[in-house]
Amino acid sequence: MKRRRQEGVDIKELIECLEAWAGRCPLCQWRGGPNPWHDISQCQREEAGQIIEQVRDIQKGLKFERFSCCYHCGIPQGICDQWQQMEETGWWEAVAEGRCQYFGLVVEVVCTLFTKGNDEEVEEVYHWMKRMGVDIYRKASVHRWYGKRVEWGGLEASGLV
Ligand SMILES: [Zn+2]
Ligand SMILES: [Zn+2]
Repeated sequence: MKRRRQEGVDIKELIECLEAWAGRCPLCQWRGGPNPWHDISQCQREEAGQIIEQVRDIQKGLKFERFSCCYHCGIPQGICDQWQQMEETGWWEAVAEGRCQYFGLVVEVVCTLFTKGNDEEVEEVYHWMKRMGVDIYRKASVHRWYGKRVEWGGLEASGLV
């Protein structure tokens, strides 16, 4: 069985993507508010509570199983601080005091756009995820995410099922 490798992912571009959202409230960032520099849990917007609930829900059920991704946060191990590459073997090992510097970010952004974005924006999220090599593209997961989307947005089922 062939494994898809991390080389296909443009790490630099990914980090830029992540940095564009990091440390900010994804909802305010996306809405273009004057001050996105807060955690979404501190957000004053009405929709924030709804999004946080979905984030929790998804984080409970979401497992990142792809070999090259951190299984906590889902981003490639080459980016996540939780991992370091062993020189001799090239294997990734968990760092004892490491942490996922982007933990939650991906799910928060996705939830925000899935909940409040239009079709085009939802598409964009999928492309973004794909470029990141994030596991939600796996077939079973896609179904789950699409299911969520249907549930959240009251939209019609997309023909993927
Ligand atoms: Zn906010
Ligand atoms: Zn991680």
